[in-house]
Amino acid sequence: MNISKIEHIGIAVESLEKAIPYYETLLGSKCYAIEEVIDQKVKTAFFKVGETKIELLESMDPEGPIGKFLEKKGPGVHHIAFAVDQVNSALVEAELAGIQLVDKKGRKGAEGLNIGFLHPKSTFGVLTELCSK
Ligand code: ZN
Repeated sequence: MNISKIEHIGIAVESLEKAIPYYETLLGSKCYAIEEVIDQKVKTAFFKVGETKIELLESMDPEGPIGKFLEKKGPGVHHIAFAVDQVNSALVEAELAGIQLVDKKGRKGAEGLNIGFLHPKSTFGVLTELCSK
């Protein structure tokens, strides 16, 4: 799969407006991008932490994936994203290794990345994202 690093950690929040100042204080850096991902019904805010990023996720629709997550579990860590060379081939490799997939093929995520998710049932409860440029 050739994972090179943790690309980002996705954190579900009730409100970007409320969560951003906390992360700006904690990390000592400004949120550098806010982006809506219509496909995922989510608004994201990004922070750099060395080679890794924090991705805050605010739901734009209670029926969307983050809306449902917040309803069920409340705010908190939502997923971990690993950087791979090529999402589609990494997904094929994961499936061959017996890992259950959420996405059979990569799709467009925030920051123009190709993303695909592995199912928490196969990953010890951690929703796992693979992403590539
Ligand atoms: Zn993500």
